[in-house]
Amino acid sequence: MTRVGVLAIQGDFHEHILVLESLGVETSEVRLPKQLEGLDGLIIPGGESTTIVMLADLYGLRDAIRSAVDGGMALWGTCAGMIVIARELAEDRPEPFNLVDMKVSRNWFGRQVDSFEQDLQIEGIEGGPYRCVFIRAPAVTELGDGVETIASVNGGTPVAVRSGKILATAFHPELTDDTRVHQLFLTLAEGGPKS
Ligand code: GLN
Repeated sequence: MTRVGVLAIQGDFHEHILVLESLGVETSEVRLPKQLEGLDGLIIPGGESTTIVMLADLYGLRDAIRSAVDGGMALWGTCAGMIVIARELAEDRPEPFNLVDMKVSRNWFGRQVDSFEQDLQIEGIEGGPYRCVFIRAPAVTELGDGVETIASVNGGTPVAVRSGKILATAFHPELTDDTRVHQLFLTLAEGGPKS
């Protein structure tokens, strides 16, 4: 059975857990490095990226997540999670984990009041457009080699990318009833160790 953990130190981790449970996945909350053992995938949820990074560093999770990813664990960052796993940010803080070769702008769409929903076609997801919920959302401003855009807005700004077994979305699939992005992540998590 696939085992997926959700980083549960800040943000909307509970919503991810509910979706995963509805899909019959063995799910756990991750707060400490040892809780990463044996996971096929980890989700870093939306929330507030400086807080997530600060607490993750306090618990020693930065290096632990990196070595789990090196060992083949799939990883998905949603919104603040996308910011946390980036190589570099347009802003000074926080210092991201540098797990995906991309530069991210934290509040690319503006402030809380500029939150919105939009139907987008996501590559790798069948069944028509996906309703994307953007809340003080980031966007990708630079992509490295091997990082593929799977959804974009405004004629080309990437808001969902994939790099091997790593997925990053600027929007919040855990806040809709549509489980297709979670299912896409599960196919990455089920893909076995990275060769
Ligand atoms: N822009 C926020 C940040 O910098 C993330 C917002 C979200 O996760 N909904 O942390």
